[in-house]
Amino acid sequence: MAFTNFHGHCAYCDGKETPEAFIREAVRQRMPVYGFSSHAPLPFDLPWPMRAENTEKYIAAIESLKHTYAGQIEIYTGLEVDYIPQIAGPGQPSIRQWPLDYTIGSVHFVDFFPEGRPWEIDGLHQVFLKGLEEIFQHDIEKAIRRYYALLRQMVQEDPPDVIGHLDKIKIQSEEGQLFSEEAKWYREAVEETLEVIAQSGIIVEVNTRGIYKKKSAEPYPSYWILEKIKAKNIPIMLNADAHHPQEITACFEEVAARLQAIGFEQFRLLRRGVWQDVAFNTQGIQDDES
Ligand SMILES: [Zn+2]
Ligand SMILES: [Zn+2]
Repeated sequence: MAFTNFHGHCAYCDGKETPEAFIREAVRQRMPVYGFSSHAPLPFDLPWPMRAENTEKYIAAIESLKHTYAGQIEIYTGLEVDYIPQIAGPGQPSIRQWPLDYTIGSVHFVDFFPEGRPWEIDGLHQVFLKGLEEIFQHDIEKAIRRYYALLRQMVQEDPPDVIGHLDKIKIQSEEGQLFSEEAKWYREAVEETLEVIAQSGIIVEVNTRGIYKKKSAEPYPSYWILEKIKAKNIPIMLNADAHHPQEITACFEEVAARLQAIGFEQFRLLRRGVWQDVAFNTQGIQDDES
């Protein structure tokens, strides 16, 4: 048995190493499936998205790997697409023009600074504090509610196949210094969002990057949110958000154990080109081909 990973970056965006280096490591770990999800290009000057002129090469590189490694591992082509209303989203023509197997939709930006730059909510804490002051007048509740409202808007108006790192904004309040996940308003915002997701049928990824990068003790989303996700029968998948080949299954064993304890039995995954529910345990997914 082995795990799968559908949230993977590489040197085409801000990841390290070529796509093939990730596949070699995935094959070494006997993973049956691997999905690439480079950051889709954005019309802003940022260091981490893929450059628009490289998208075609990125897709061709993965297509070529699909042939090279046929019979050893299934490979899928995806993009992690930012949702910024009217500017970027999974359903925009700039994304839909490509022959993608899937999209991950993520909210990395909440509204704009007065000078027009989008406010990055999962970057430097100083930038977070600046936006909190200039856009939301230090009102953390208003800012976080706006983040979750954007997630709901994405799900309802421009849905991806998978929702990326649902509660990543929590890293800005790691010690509870800006807000507590136990605050009533926070729980309400999350609950309202899960309600919308449950009706959409979209998959929520369980993303381990915060744990191995030591930005959060729990995955995105937190375990109390995953309990609600289980209660609402929302499908999940386990992803690493890997930026380096060494990260492609980081912390999967411990998180899979917690997911089992919550009551999850299956991940929803692409296998042989079809989304399906596949049983898992702490060693990986049940591989019906072996
Ligand atoms: Zn992301
Ligand atoms: Zn990512």
